[in-house]
Amino acid sequence: MKTASELKNELFYTKKSVYELTSEENVNKAFDYAVGYKKYLDNAKTEREAVTTSIEIAEKAGFKPYTLGQSLSAGDKLYYNNRGKSLFLFTVGSESIENGIRISAAHIDSPRLDFKPCPLYEDSRMSFFKTHYYGGIKKYQWTTIPLAIHGVVTLKDGTNINVTIGEDENDPVFYINDILPHLGQNQAKKTLGEAIEGEQLNLFAASRPYSTEDEGDQIKLTVIALLNEKYGITETDFISAELSAVPAEKARDIGLDRAAVGSYGHDDRVCAYPALTSVIDNADSAHTLMCVLADKEEIGSDGLSGMQCEIFPDLIDEIAKALGGDPAVVRANSKCLSADVSAAYDPNFKDVFEKRNTPELSCGVVLIKYTGSRGKAGTSDAGAEYIGWLRSVMEKDNVVWQTGELGKIDLGGGGTVAKYIANLNIETVDLGVPVISMHAPYELISKVDLYETYKAFSAFCKY
Ligand code: MN
Ligand code: MN
Repeated sequence: MKTASELKNELFYTKKSVYELTSEENVNKAFDYAVGYKKYLDNAKTEREAVTTSIEIAEKAGFKPYTLGQSLSAGDKLYYNNRGKSLFLFTVGSESIENGIRISAAHIDSPRLDFKPCPLYEDSRMSFFKTHYYGGIKKYQWTTIPLAIHGVVTLKDGTNINVTIGEDENDPVFYINDILPHLGQNQAKKTLGEAIEGEQLNLFAASRPYSTEDEGDQIKLTVIALLNEKYGITETDFISAELSAVPAEKARDIGLDRAAVGSYGHDDRVCAYPALTSVIDNADSAHTLMCVLADKEEIGSDGLSGMQCEIFPDLIDEIAKALGGDPAVVRANSKCLSADVSAAYDPNFKDVFEKRNTPELSCGVVLIKYTGSRGKAGTSDAGAEYIGWLRSVMEKDNVVWQTGELGKIDLGGGGTVAKYIANLNIETVDLGVPVISMHAPYELISKVDLYETYKAFSAFCKY
C-alpha cells in the first residue's frame, strides 16, 4: 500500500519552479537565451522597430519577402511585411497543408505616449510636445523619468523619415514634469488615477530661445528649427507623423543573481521573441508554421495592422490555395498559441490575486485557459481537448508550465488576440510569460520563464 506522501505526489497538482524541476544546464541555456532577447528589446521599442528587427533576424536565417498570390513549395521560408507595422513569418512544411498551420501570435505594440497631431507649444519659458497616451497606463508612472522619442515622419513628397532621439548616450532625453511634494498636498488627496491627468502628460522639449531679438514663441522656434536642421521637417509635418515617447532606459539584469530582466515593453516582446525564434529554429518542421507579430493589441486589435484585420485570414487562404488545400479545411485543422503575458503573483499586492490560480515568477510558461472580465466576458475560453493536447506536446520536451488567470474575479481583467483567431475557427489558447509590474515603464520578467516559453513554442512547432 502507498504511503500518504507517495499518494500525494502521484495525485496532487503541485507547482514547482524551473530551478527545482530542471538541470543547471537548462538554467544556463535560459541565461544565454536572454542575451539575444535583451538586444531585441533595445532595438525594438515600437511596433515598426520590432518589424524591422524581426525581419533582420529572419533574413539572416534565410527568410525572403512574400507577396500575395505567390506560388509556394515545401521548404519555403517567407515573411509578409504588413505596412511596416505588423509581420507574418511562415515556413512551408512537407506534410499536407490541410493538416493545418501551427500559428504563434504575439503583439509588438506596447503602452506609450503618442504625439498629438499639433503637439508643439511654448508656455512660461518652456516648450513641450502634447501627447495622447496609447494603451493602459498608470499616468503618474510616466512623469520624471528619462523618455526617448521614436517614430516616423512622412513628408509631403512621400519621404519617410525615421526619428530616434534619446537612445544614444550622447543624445538628450525628454521629460514629463510633476509637482514637488511640498506643494503636492492637493494632488496627494486625489486618487492615483486622477493625480496626473492625460493633458498633463506634456513632454519637455526645450528651454532656450532661438533669438532674443524677436518676441513670442522663440523656444518653440528653437525646437522646430533643430528638428528642421536634423530631419528637414516643419510643424505641419507632425500631422503626417507617428512619433511616440517611450522610456529611454535599456534592458538590464535585475537582482544580484541576474536571473530577472528589467525593460520597457516586455509586454509583449517577451512572447514575440520566443514566437519568432522558435519558428526560425524549427523551420524544418513537417508542419507549416506561422509567427504573427501584430500591432494595436493594447488598444483593441483594430485597424490595418491589428489582429482583427482581414489580412490574417487572407494570408491563410492564400497559403492554402497555393498549396492546393481547401482554406476552410486548413483553418479547421490549424492550431494557435496566442502568445501574451500574464500577471505574476506579487507578494507586495497580495489582495488582488487568488494565489491558487495565479502564475508565479520562475515557475515556467503560463497556460491561460481564458481571459476576459465580469464572468469571463470577452474571452474565447480554450477547450479542454486542445489544452490536453498541448499538455502532452509540452511534456515531450519537459517544458515547465503553470496555469493561472488574471487576478481575482471582478477586480478587472483583460483580453488578448486569442478570441480574434478563435473566431476564425482556429483552436487557440493563451500561453506566455508571467510579468511583474505589467504596463509600467519598466517591467520585470524571469529568464527561466522566458526560456520555458521558447521551449513551449518550439515543441508546438515540432510535434
Ligand atoms: Mn499583451
Ligand atoms: Mn498589454
